[in-house]
Amino acid sequence: MAAFVSVAVGFRLDKTYTYAVPPEYQGIAVVGTRVLVPFNRRTVTGYVVEARDEPGYSGTIRPLAEVLDTRPTFTPHLMEFLSWAADYYQVPMGQLMRGALPPSMHAMEKTRVRITGVGRSMAHTSPLLERLAAGTGELSEKVALEMVGKADLERLENVRAVEKVKKIAAGGPGAGYRKIVRILEWDETRLTGPKQRDIAQMVRLKGQVDLADLVQEDPGARRAIPILEKKGVVAVDKVREFRKIQSATVNTKPPDKLNRAQLEAIKAIGSSLKEQRFHSYLLHGVTGSGKTEVYMHSIAAALDQGRGALILVPEIALTPQLMALFQARFKDRVAMLHSALSKRERYDQWCQVAEGKMPVVLGARSAVFAPISNLGLIVVDEEHEPSFKQDEHPFYSARDLALVRARFGNAVAVLGSATPSLESYHNALGGKHTLLSMPHRATRRPLPDVSIIDLRRSGFEDSQKVFSKPLAQAIKDNVAAGDQCILFLNRKGYAAFLTCAVCGAVPQCNSCSISLTYYRSAGMLRCHYCGFGLPLPEECPSCGKEELKRIGFGTERVVEALKEFAPEVRIEQLDATVSASKRLTRVLDKFRNREVDVLVGTQIVAKGHDFPGVTLVGVLMADLGLAFPDFRAAERTFQLLTQVAGRAGRGSKSGAVHVQTYLPMHYALRHAQRHEFIDFSTEELQHRKLRDYPPFSCLALLRFNGEEMDQVSAKARIAARLLEEAVEKGPVKGEILGPTLAPISVIRNRVRMQVLVKTRTRSHMQQLLKYMGYTLWQELKNPVAVRWSLDVDPMNML
Ligand code: ADP
Ligand code: ZN
Repeated sequence: MAAFVSVAVGFRLDKTYTYAVPPEYQGIAVVGTRVLVPFNRRTVTGYVVEARDEPGYSGTIRPLAEVLDTRPTFTPHLMEFLSWAADYYQVPMGQLMRGALPPSMHAMEKTRVRITGVGRSMAHTSPLLERLAAGTGELSEKVALEMVGKADLERLENVRAVEKVKKIAAGGPGAGYRKIVRILEWDETRLTGPKQRDIAQMVRLKGQVDLADLVQEDPGARRAIPILEKKGVVAVDKVREFRKIQSATVNTKPPDKLNRAQLEAIKAIGSSLKEQRFHSYLLHGVTGSGKTEVYMHSIAAALDQGRGALILVPEIALTPQLMALFQARFKDRVAMLHSALSKRERYDQWCQVAEGKMPVVLGARSAVFAPISNLGLIVVDEEHEPSFKQDEHPFYSARDLALVRARFGNAVAVLGSATPSLESYHNALGGKHTLLSMPHRATRRPLPDVSIIDLRRSGFEDSQKVFSKPLAQAIKDNVAAGDQCILFLNRKGYAAFLTCAVCGAVPQCNSCSISLTYYRSAGMLRCHYCGFGLPLPEECPSCGKEELKRIGFGTERVVEALKEFAPEVRIEQLDATVSASKRLTRVLDKFRNREVDVLVGTQIVAKGHDFPGVTLVGVLMADLGLAFPDFRAAERTFQLLTQVAGRAGRGSKSGAVHVQTYLPMHYALRHAQRHEFIDFSTEELQHRKLRDYPPFSCLALLRFNGEEMDQVSAKARIAARLLEEAVEKGPVKGEILGPTLAPISVIRNRVRMQVLVKTRTRSHMQQLLKYMGYTLWQELKNPVAVRWSLDVDPMNML
């Protein structure tokens, strides 16, 4: 039994820490358990990543304080996977492990302890003891000592213990009195230490008891119970009443017949499942091609093999339909893991997954760490979505980790999308994924007709110049026919910003290098980065003239302009600020029930919704995203246009899409217009290759921020220099770009700089980072006033 453990804590990248295992915890503090350990002057939660006989460390070793689990929280499989991920993304293992657990896990735990048959038989009784236990016997000091002596005085270990017994006895019948009885009653050959006897007896007298209550009565119970469990004296059960998670009411009837493309995809995935070896598929199915059925049949195949399945979706709160479908199909075998659930619900779901009661997990990003055992299938739906990449510590891509987890577990991975990311498509071309195509809609409706409206030529319908004449006409016709319409604009608020017609000043955020967005409904100017708000000024803050003009428009203004020429239309508006809220579900429900004619919104309306009543989609300004200083701008625009267009004509009527733009010739728009994923990707891959961007290179972005420009740039320069040295002397070539100011150079009064690292391949990046080892972290520790982070495979370049 291991006497030492390596423990990962949540905040140190480089290493784990060695602790001694007190005898009573040996065999319990095993790999994968959560522990409390002393760290400097605090006690922190850590995770055992290794257990061994030798200390393997020459400094002072402190004992761990407590073991929090009665059995390991992380299986060896998960540990292996987490350790790979921590290595790849250069994040502390402990941080990943914590992120893999539902929030406030510890507080939620309710553990029931009960005495076993063995435990019961171990108690030996005597008439005297029975009398004492009943509280009728007289316990004089003499009797007490006699009894202690009989039971084996030596086991009470030292004189102090004897003194204690004397004192207890002197106190007469009471709590201490019963304690002695308990001590004496136990078969000491089986139990070591008075604490164990004591605790075991407490359980025996009560029959069963909550661990929490036991610990409250005697804190030693936390240590003693796992040992007693091992010895078979008590049994530990997790007792909980799980609540069912309610899902939306939608039509969950499966289609009568699968089409050929679906059958072929299901067959391919099914045959890989049978091989029980890792295989990955890229399922490219146009919007409405029926990918969900492919997922569900594949999951059923995995379940038939007695294996589990994980389905990752970008924003689960946005797809109540999917939840309802899964629950209808897999009943109580499906768990949901996402942040829109309450802590309690998340914990309930997580536990049932860990216990193997729910072999199917539908979840968002962090569900990639779900404790599913014997995982057979991992599906990543809408795999192109940037939200699979966690944009803060610990940085990781759930899409990429899904593939790694599948590889470790000999599972099958399916990445599905109507607009695969260039990375995945490139991998499919290179033979890393098998490409499965579903080029037609399952409902036999054609893909919608997309027309591009050149805003430089078409007249405007409304005084605000938001709607072109053709789009306005299409909306009027559509509503008159009793159909529904989605209007998409990737900008919230009323106006993009204000500018003074006299001096040209643009009101900026006080603490970010960004202009303020005008919200008319609130009468406010707001910063999208820090939330700073300001009542709408009546005059220019710079020159004092009353000439503030509204430049550009957001969804608020779209609604206003629409009312101008279609006053009778029932309109609802959605934007990212309502995303996780109840309002979102309510609005989507209303739209589904056809209580709303036109839904106006940002990206949120472009996601995988399936509203059969929608026959018209309007994109109000397609070029908004193209100006972003991000090499993925064209790809994102193509994806968004294709996805939002894909909301049209999914039901019994075919659909039409109108795309307004000032850049009608842009290739992202042209290809989206003709539903040409392959042509777009081919062209975009050429651009990427020319400029050495992913997937033809691997990137890592180091970000720095602090209040003092000098300090920030000094730290960024040190990082750049260290990295330059590493690519010169190290095992692999690479390019270090920067330091430069970040595109958004100030947020919340903190100056932002970045250094971009570029290598040929991912494995080169790993070699480079490994070669750097801990140097970077050591050298960049100070000054702490400048925070920094390392983002491997960044998605967000701002
Ligand atoms: P995707 O996720 O590929 O965009 P969905 O899975 O949402 O598409 O399917 C689109 C619509 O097609 C859904 O309403 C679904 O019920 C329907 N559908 C799926 N498969 C079939 C089929 N074989 N026959 C008829 N309708 C189908
Ligand atoms: Zn701000």
